[in-house]
Amino acid sequence: MDSNKKSTTIQKNYVTILGSGTSTGVPTPGCPCKLCQQAANNPSSKNNRLRTSIFLQTTRGKHILIDTTPDLRTQILQSKISQIDAVIITHDHADHIHGIDDLRPFCFFQKRKEIPLHVTDYTKQQLEKRFEYIFNNTKKVIGGGIPMLTLHTVEGNITPNIIEEEEFTFFTLPHGHITSLGFFHQGLAYLTDCQEIPADVLNFLIASDVKLLIIDATRRKPHATHLHLEKSLNYIKQINPQQSRLIHLSHDFDHEQLCQEVMDYGLLNSKASFDGEKLSY
Ligand SMILES: [Zn+2]
Ligand SMILES: [Zn+2]
Repeated sequence: MDSNKKSTTIQKNYVTILGSGTSTGVPTPGCPCKLCQQAANNPSSKNNRLRTSIFLQTTRGKHILIDTTPDLRTQILQSKISQIDAVIITHDHADHIHGIDDLRPFCFFQKRKEIPLHVTDYTKQQLEKRFEYIFNNTKKVIGGGIPMLTLHTVEGNITPNIIEEEEFTFFTLPHGHITSLGFFHQGLAYLTDCQEIPADVLNFLIASDVKLLIIDATRRKPHATHLHLEKSLNYIKQINPQQSRLIHLSHDFDHEQLCQEVMDYGLLNSKASFDGEKLSY
């Protein structure tokens, strides 16, 4: 028998879906619809969706968080995250950044006290404005303190960037008035918050060996700033990944029903994602 001396290193990369929901989360507060009511009465239902975020654990032992949602504290506790080496912020909408202060405890307990945030130049400027107390703090802090975060800009034009020794190929995606940062990392392609995939990005993904595609599918009807279900499924067909997951889901979708619909569409290895789902790639 093998004496497995490498037991401490993991053989595969893992991604955890920390939140699969649209900007309001599901159930949507105050919404009288049947799905929201049922989800509220059944906390373990896969129709309960926190705000969209994922977490990567790499074979090199790196732990990388994507976005700091208003649900971040709950997501960290639910997924038992005890290490965050770096954060990638896709864009500056509230549902992707308003939990930024929940990174603070990681600045107390980790060996490395400062956490690097990787962003586009536009997002850097917005974060500096929105969270002046973190990024432009000139006052001496008394009491609880502030998260110690540093901002680093990345190239978003389908060129490789190295983050924590890991190669990420970033690309920008149109998202209403702004862009959202998507990426490819060792077979994982992540595309949230976009209304379309530009031709050069689509061609790059078609030419890449995409093992797992996680893609925006906010609702059934067309949306000005997001992919809707039919458009997402169409892109999945074109990219043809080994498997895929739909994310940023609204109360339009019942988990089981959506999985069935995707299968009926002919995408046998595609499903709706759900909070807490962990996949290898
Ligand atoms: Zn969003
Ligand atoms: Zn957004």
